[in-house]
Amino acid sequence: MGRDTGPKCKKCRREGEKLFLKGERCYTQSCPLARRSNPPGERPKKHRPRRSQYLLHLREKQKARRIYGLGERQFRNYVERAKRKKGITGEALLTLLERRLDNTVYRAGFASSRSQARQMIVHGHFQLNDRAVNVPSILVREGDVIAVKEGRRDKVKTIIEANKDREIPSWIERNLEAMKAQVIAPPNLEETGYNIAANLIVEFYSR
Ligand code: SF4
Repeated sequence: MGRDTGPKCKKCRREGEKLFLKGERCYTQSCPLARRSNPPGERPKKHRPRRSQYLLHLREKQKARRIYGLGERQFRNYVERAKRKKGITGEALLTLLERRLDNTVYRAGFASSRSQARQMIVHGHFQLNDRAVNVPSILVREGDVIAVKEGRRDKVKTIIEANKDREIPSWIERNLEAMKAQVIAPPNLEETGYNIAANLIVEFYSR
């Protein structure tokens, strides 16, 4: 599928901001971005050089692609899909990305990162609406219920325990004891915690 599998912290340094790719470490003082914010391979500069329009668009696209852990082709498909939706394409794109099952599992605090969520889904730890699921790219809808499978609770309980204090978005209702989460509304884009200029991404693919 060609996913980005290089060192995660380097990706944050390249984008100059925290992308929260590494799970628990991202929420602690050991996040290296606190110490070094220069892009990998470059010495710290007092000012970042002016970027061309193309570079601005490219970096915004790369940032979003890295946050959601998608390959180029997969990401482009989301952009094409968003273009076919009514309304603002950039918002439609972010909504599609937020609705991915791996993102929802992460947002619900059932995994420390999206990559861990993806792995847990592929390993069959979850059910979606009482049916086994192992496809991280499924798009959840309002009313969907994600639950840890009965036989997998012991395997995931330490992960869930480690993430239980992380803030979860208002469009997800979580029941920690039952290890269930329900999607109660469409994703609220103000709660992504990232500053993604989705219009620049759409412009990148419109060139
Ligand atoms: Fe590494 Fe996470 Fe910090 Fe990014 S946010 S630099 S992945 S620890």
